[in-house]
Amino acid sequence: RAKSAGGNRCETADPELDARAITSHGLTTALPAALERGEFFIEYQPLVHMDDGSVHGAEALVRWSHPQHGILGPDQFIPLAERTGLIVPLGRWVLQEAVRQARYWQEHHTEGGPLRINVNLSPAQLQHPGLVTDTVAVLERSGLAPGVLCLEVTESALIGADETLLRPLRQLAEMGVDIALDDFGTGYSNLANLRRLPVSVLKLDRSFTQGMQQLPVDPVDLKIVEGIVSLAHSLELAVTVEGVETGAQADRLRELGCDTAQGWYYARPGPPELLHALSLADAI
Ligand code: C2E
Ligand code: MG
Ligand code: MG
Ligand code: MG
Repeated sequence: RAKSAGGNRCETADPELDARAITSHGLTTALPAALERGEFFIEYQPLVHMDDGSVHGAEALVRWSHPQHGILGPDQFIPLAERTGLIVPLGRWVLQEAVRQARYWQEHHTEGGPLRINVNLSPAQLQHPGLVTDTVAVLERSGLAPGVLCLEVTESALIGADETLLRPLRQLAEMGVDIALDDFGTGYSNLANLRRLPVSVLKLDRSFTQGMQQLPVDPVDLKIVEGIVSLAHSLELAVTVEGVETGAQADRLRELGCDTAQGWYYARPGPPELLHALSLADAI
């Protein structure tokens, strides 16, 4: 297992291997078998409340434990899974597994309310007709309240989205599932457009908060984030910030009114037990 130091995003055993290289290695055909063999696993990254540092929940991030290449990150195989259609069964597996984990947390870690679970949806999953029924079935089987689940959809997947694409999300939102707009700020979407999307959370992309790692912070950067936060709040959206790596960054973003945060400063993605330790630490 690749460990902590350096690198970006999922730390893989073979960082040189990009999606193209994997295709040329003939791994496209290995994807379905990998799902059957149970080679995928999920790491969980805590989401914390900025005001008191308590744990709000976790984002499920999928990894592939490849027999030859070691641990592969989602950027190395999700595009491939999208192109081959495997993303639908893979995404369903991630949802099932993450919801099962959230249910476990609910049963074993009752202090401080249920830990929320965030699951990423890719565009192909959004367009798949089974999305709503699959999600309902997974929730019902687990007994988890819909409000514990948050589905993350990237801003770019929703740019120019018509009602056909939005309808399943609207249905899920009406059931009480939270929808988050992931990587917000990277997609040049029309801010006024936010009003018609069935989202309740904005996840500010890491690129927005990178400038706040070191002091002094560019006052224009501060103004931009301040503006987005106040717009989001006036639309009754919660704001999560991604990629918080330093205490200085956390301080700025808390002052700017961000609600929840995620990043290496708090915790790197890790096994589910990571959350047990953190939520117990809260309770003390
Ligand atoms: P994302 O949803 O924006 O997830 C956040 C990414 O930022 C994760 O990368 C996480 O490990 C990384 N990250 C978290 N905190 C920090 C930090 O402080 N600094 C830096 N530099 N990075 C940080 P990861 O795990 O490699 O995932 C990459 C993307 O793959 C995700 O971006 C998401 O779009 C996609 N993905 C992950 N799991 C799934 C899945 O189950 N289904 C689908 N469709 N997509 C997934
Ligand atoms: Mg995400
Ligand atoms: Mg994100
Ligand atoms: Mg991002």
